[in-house]
Amino acid sequence: MPCKLTQEQIDQTISFHGHWCPGLASGIRAAEWALTELCARSYDEELVAVVETDMCGVDAIQFLTGCTFGKGNLIHKDYGKNAFTFYRRSDDKAARLVARPEMFGDAQQTLGQLRRKMQSGDLTEEEKAIWQQIREIITKHIMESDLADLFEIKKPDEPIPQKARMLSSLVCEKCGESVMESRTRRLQELTLCIPCFEKMERGL
Ligand SMILES: [Zn+2]
Ligand SMILES: [Zn+2]
Repeated sequence: MPCKLTQEQIDQTISFHGHWCPGLASGIRAAEWALTELCARSYDEELVAVVETDMCGVDAIQFLTGCTFGKGNLIHKDYGKNAFTFYRRSDDKAARLVARPEMFGDAQQTLGQLRRKMQSGDLTEEEKAIWQQIREIITKHIMESDLADLFEIKKPDEPIPQKARMLSSLVCEKCGESVMESRTRRLQELTLCIPCFEKMERGL
């Protein structure tokens, strides 16, 4: 079944992100799963998302599900995978959605070649048109496919992350800036923030 979200939700997500792209489409579809299977937008911490990428798709997760860095219910693991785990706190219902390698289709190789060429800055007008066309085809495919064809829906590997805690702050004895206690370091009997600790360790 194609994407069940409204055109308005999709348009707002695109304007939040800044452009329309296959990565954003994959995030929209993952968010759609969370919104239909777990709950509506998360105003507090009823929903938690763990994302294994920091690319375009994460903007759709934030915008549509309401899981955000600031609330502590959006957690990034830097694994470079198009994988999104959602947890519902009330009953621990959860799933890890992993993009199937076929999600971006056969044209991905061509897209990769063009991207490399584009980075060195010499795409012809014709190549630019092909690039745009392929991206549109992939995006359309992502928006119109069944969720189960796009993602493998698995059990999460990890239990639900703990609720965000407010910790007290200490003042770094080197730069005088205040820093969350759990992020302080001790060196030569000084309480330090991480950048000051790292500088001192390197003897600066
Ligand atoms: Zn994008
Ligand atoms: Zn400091």
